[in-house]
Formats: sequence, C-alpha cells, structure tokens
Amino acid sequence: MTKVIVIGAGVVGASAAYRLAQAGAQVLVLEANRPGAGTSGISYAWTNAHRKPPLPYHALNVNGMKTHAILRDELGATPWWHGGGSLEWTEPERWDSFRANIEQLNGWGYAASYVTPAQVHELEPDIDLSVLGDAPAAFFPDEGWCDPVVYIQAMLSAAIRRHNARILLGARVVDLLMHGDRAGGVRLADGSVHEADVVVNCAGRWTNDAVREAGLHLPMAPTPGLLVFTPPVACGLSRVLHTSVVNVRPDGAGRLMLHWDPTDATLSLDSAVSTDMPQVRDLLARVKRVLPGIGEVSAEAVRLGIRPIPGDGFTAVGPVPRVSGYYVAVTHSGVTMSPFLGLCLADEIMRGTERPELADFRPARFFN
Ligand SMILES: Cc1cc2nc3c(=O)[nH]c(=O)nc-3n(C[C@H](O)[C@H](O)[C@H](O)COP(=O)(O)OP(=O)(O)OC[C@H]3O[C@@H](n4cnc5c(N)ncnc54)[C@H](O)[C@@H]3O)c2cc1C
Repeated sequence: MTKVIVIGAGVVGASAAYRLAQAGAQVLVLEANRPGAGTSGISYAWTNAHRKPPLPYHALNVNGMKTHAILRDELGATPWWHGGGSLEWTEPERWDSFRANIEQLNGWGYAASYVTPAQVHELEPDIDLSVLGDAPAAFFPDEGWCDPVVYIQAMLSAAIRRHNARILLGARVVDLLMHGDRAGGVRLADGSVHEADVVVNCAGRWTNDAVREAGLHLPMAPTPGLLVFTPPVACGLSRVLHTSVVNVRPDGAGRLMLHWDPTDATLSLDSAVSTDMPQVRDLLARVKRVLPGIGEVSAEAVRLGIRPIPGDGFTAVGPVPRVSGYYVAVTHSGVTMSPFLGLCLADEIMRGTERPELADFRPARFFN
C-alpha cells in the first residue's frame, strides 16, 4: 500500500487527503496546529473563476467549481457550500474593463449576464439602488461561497472514517527525510520521524518552512487581506456582492463579511489589526451605503489573512525537480480550486495519470 504524508490540513491538504485515501493510499495528515488554522480559516472564500485569466488558470478555477458540485452528488449534501450566484458592478473608471471581462467570460462559456436595476432589486431587495446608479451590473449564477473550515472537517472526516486516513495535530514538519535524491518521509519539530513513499506539501504560505533544503523552496509572493465581520444584522443579503464601494457576502447567522481591495493595499503582512482601526470603520460605512437597513453597527471581529501566492501569481502543483517522492500544492484561490486539485493529486500519485489541466502550473517552472 502506498504510504502518503500530507503536510497541512487547510482546504488543499484536506482535499488531497480525501482523494488520495479514496484512491487507496495509506494517508497520514500532519498538521502543525489544527485543521483550518491557516489561511483557509481567514478567507473570503468566494468560489468563482471571475477575472482569472489566462484561459488555463480560469479553467482550473471552473474545474474547482464543478468539483464542489460533484461533491454534492457524492456525499449527499454539502452544507459548507452556498450557491445563489454573485452580483457585481464597479466604479465608472472600470466600466470598460468590466464589460471586457463579461465578454471574455461569455466567450469562454462561463455564465455571466447583465442585469437591470429591477433585476438587482428582485435578487437583493435590501440594496439601495442609488449606489448602483446607471452602472452596468452583472449576475454570475454559478458562483457562491464556502465555509472553508466546515469543508475541511468534511473532507478529513470522509478520509478518516471511509478510507482509514490518520491525522496528527500539533505535528510541525521541519524537514524531509532524504534517501539519496528520494524523499522517504518527514521529520517533525519534536524530532520524531514518519516514513512514507510520497510526501505532499500542502502547508500553504508556510510551504518553504516545512523543508529545510533551500533548493526545494518555491518563490512566494504572499499578500495581506483584511476581512471585517459584522454581528448578526437584520438584512436579507443572500449572495456574494461586489460593488463600486465594498465587497460583501453573508457569513452565516445574519453576519456579513466585508472586504475591499484598496484597504488591503494599506496593510502589510504583519500589520496589527483591531475592530476600531480606521480601515474597519471605513468598510462599515461603505457597506451601510449599499445596505442601509443594517443600521449603526460595529465590527464584531476583524482578521488579517495572508494569501499563499507562488512567485508568479499562479498555482504550483506537482513534483519538484531533483527529488522524487515529493509534491507541492500551493495556490491562491484554493477554496475554489482545492476539490479539483485533490482529484488531480490522486490521479497523478496513485494512478500515474498526468493531468493536462496542470501543465502550465508545475513547480518545475521555478527551478530552471
Ligand atoms: C483575505 C483572503 C481572501 C481570499 N479570498 C478567496 C476567495 O474569495 N476565493 C478563493 O478561492 N480563495 C480565496 N483566498 C485564498 C484561499 O483562502 C487560499 O488559497 C487557501 O485557503 C489556501 O489553503 P491551503 O490549504 O493551501 O493553506 P492553509 O489554509 O494555510 O493550510 C496550511 C496548513 O498547513 C499547516 N502547516 C503550516 N506549516 C506546517 C508544518 N511545517 N507542518 C505541518 N503543518 C503545517 C497550517 O497550520 C495550516 O493548517 C483568500 C485568501 C485570503 C487571505
């Protein structure tokens, strides 16, 4: 039986663990902290393939969206995934690029259609249409959002209960065990050793920290993202909303999650964040313009997430040159893509089937 170690229990590691165990591997997940403790627990988690050119990268995301849907058929229910589509409009300076995006998405066969203010009102009656004004608005019916930690739990539970995978928590990997040019397992911070035929590094932004050998390190370009959470509010928002003033989505039990790209640009990877910082008050004022019904509200929580982005901005999944038995899987948009990446890893590692969808996203491109 092929023994596989998966480093990290975020969305990527949990997806890999489930599919590898299902394909017959004896899987051991080693998680330094707890499942979902990394970026997956602090994510906007919008499942989409929106503004993700070029086509192969867009397609990777579409495959992720489709695989989320396959899980619904496979497991009977996917309580972590919330459909309903997304609505978008932008500020006037971006209308040309907005229209170009819709045209490109339609050209690629992705569902995206313009909607009138009356249709926006029908979909989301609590939106103040004066903020929309005469902006072009679009609806993306196949999009949604995910509760990543609930997803992770479901994948790990399926791997463990159905396919005898194991997980060790508090297990920080510090190095690969090398047998010549072959990875034969890992060493943990406490000095213990775990042998395996294959090691799959799914440690997200910490991918390089788990292996001491600098020659195996990927260039990384992480970016910070601020998420603001309201308390439960009496507002009927039921889908992802990207507007000219704020991005907002439901986050369960009446809470809203707010995000705004320009705010991220004011922060660094180690910025301290708090509910009373000016950026948070600004996001709350912005969301009140779009959804005035929420009234005066303070932030219940604020979190800074760090996006695990490989150096050129694109996904890196596959073997690493010069060492056999060692794979990495690191990506932004991991909430969208991870169900598909798990399938691909299982096909490649357990069935020996190379997935053409990953051809442009091999870690080897960084090791010339
Ligand atoms: C603000 C923000 C918004 C985002 N919005 C979206 C979005 O809308 N849609 C989308 O699809 N994606 C989005 N993303 C990206 C997405 O969240 C990530 O791509 C995804 O969560 C990465 O998952 P992961 O499993 O690779 O990493 P992580 O979730 O970070 O998991 C890595 C795990 O490895 C563990 N670990 C680390 N080091 C070690 C070690 N040495 N040994 C053992 N375990 C270790 C960690 O504890 C962690 O649990 C967003 C990210 C951020 C920050």
